[in-house]
Amino acid sequence: MDLIFATSNPNKAKEIGALLEGKFHVLSLIDIGFTDEIQETGTTLKENAYIKAQAIASEFNMPVFADDTGLEVFHLNNEPGVRSARYAGEPSNSNNNMDLLLSKLNPEEPNLARFVTWICLILNGEVHYFEGSLNGKIIHQKVGSNGFGYDPIFVPEHYSETLAQLTLEEKNKIAHRAKAFDKMKDFLKLNI
Ligand code: IMP
Repeated sequence: MDLIFATSNPNKAKEIGALLEGKFHVLSLIDIGFTDEIQETGTTLKENAYIKAQAIASEFNMPVFADDTGLEVFHLNNEPGVRSARYAGEPSNSNNNMDLLLSKLNPEEPNLARFVTWICLILNGEVHYFEGSLNGKIIHQKVGSNGFGYDPIFVPEHYSETLAQLTLEEKNKIAHRAKAFDKMKDFLKLNI
């Protein structure tokens, strides 16, 4: 069965297709020839996931899903949140984002944080949401070279390494995005 993933990144679509265990054929926006930019104007991750999914669902009569992820630092009132990708401005740059974040934090404090992923699935005109999160803390050195984004400064709860020191397989066992996609997979298995 075909599912549209509202992302312009074909690698992300392939990765998620693999996570859905080949049961569903995941098409990216490139695959369906959608090239307009969708403005992520929401004030929450959940809202942005809906905006992206709805923009595509209104033009294509097929099941669509979209995701949005952010890092929430409790001491900073859940910043950077929806601004995670461009926290330090355009163009998106992970090193600058991490530097800006660290400049706002007191290294003497625990700096608890979490990653959160929201997925919005629109199936037969009905809207469904799936959430996954990963608790942890921010550390003040960048450690490790795997992963992306804020991984080098995020140590998951019960771990002593950063996400950037874990393999992709290890990260996927505990990570926000994988948890949210597992929930969507279970839902699809029951409802399709
Ligand atoms: P997106 O919604 O998946 O595009 O994520 C938005 C931004 O959140 C990314 O540009 C990264 O800065 C950050 N981010 C999302 N997922 C992760 C992750 O697994 N590790 C580290 N940073 C992440």
